Amino acid sequence: MTYSDTELYKNLRVDCEKCFGLCCVALYFSKSEGFPTDKVAGKPCTNLQSNFRCSIHTNLRNQGLKGCTAYDCFGAGQKVAQITYNGCDWSKEKESSNQMFDVFLVMRQLHEMLWYLNQAISLKENISIHDKIRFMIEETDKLTYLNPDSLIELDIPSHQDKVNALLFETSEIVRNKVCFVKSKTKNIPRGLDCIGSDLRKIDLKGANLRGAFLIATNLRGVDLSKADLIGADLRDADLRGANLSECIFITQSQINTAKGDSNTKLPKSLNRPPYWLE
Ligand code: SF4
Repeated sequence: MTYSDTELYKNLRVDCEKCFGLCCVALYFSKSEGFPTDKVAGKPCTNLQSNFRCSIHTNLRNQGLKGCTAYDCFGAGQKVAQITYNGCDWSKEKESSNQMFDVFLVMRQLHEMLWYLNQAISLKENISIHDKIRFMIEETDKLTYLNPDSLIELDIPSHQDKVNALLFETSEIVRNKVCFVKSKTKNIPRGLDCIGSDLRKIDLKGANLRGAFLIATNLRGVDLSKADLIGADLRDADLRGANLSECIFITQSQINTAKGDSNTKLPKSLNRPPYWLE
């Protein structure tokens, strides 16, 4: 099963209304990472209300809580709340609450894989491997419907390795096509690590930016078409006027941590953060 753009938005995007504030309880987080306090996993954030809504939701950005605004569960929260646990929340099911938090962490990884796989199958360049990707989407999707005990027992690293191999193959195919057309792009930097650098003069179309540290870089007006941004750290990167509409393997979380404006071009699957327009 693959998701249409509309279904992708619905199933792999955050829907806090259908969740029990799982990310605000299940995760360990620290103040230094942009969360309100230092907190152990399994303890509710002090700002989480009994209705599972955040009491300072509209002020997260103003209060500098970038960890909260950037976090993306890829729709795992509502899947765990409404499907795995059939609407029974952790405050009512105290005995199983720790299990629910562990399940949420597993589900988030599965949904993240689905996000990337669905991006991969939406591309035309890698049509030769679409059958393999489709099969992996179906296998991964099936896992998300397992019961809690089975979810916790999953060998996630081994499944992740299989998914990563397909994502890597996709990246090579897509980027090589750009490099073939543009022979001058031989010098595209790999594994770029350039915190705070001005990258406006570098041709980054089709670049390998997997896991690159692009923190506070100047990417203003840069064309990132077919660049692979999986795992790239875009915190405070200046994306004003940049073209990310055809980059590959980018997430809402990465976008939420960067700076952009109304001229930044985004893929259809991502939302423009409201604070980019202030
Ligand atoms: S501040 Fe709000 S969004 Fe952030 S962890 Fe706490 S309850 Fe969740």
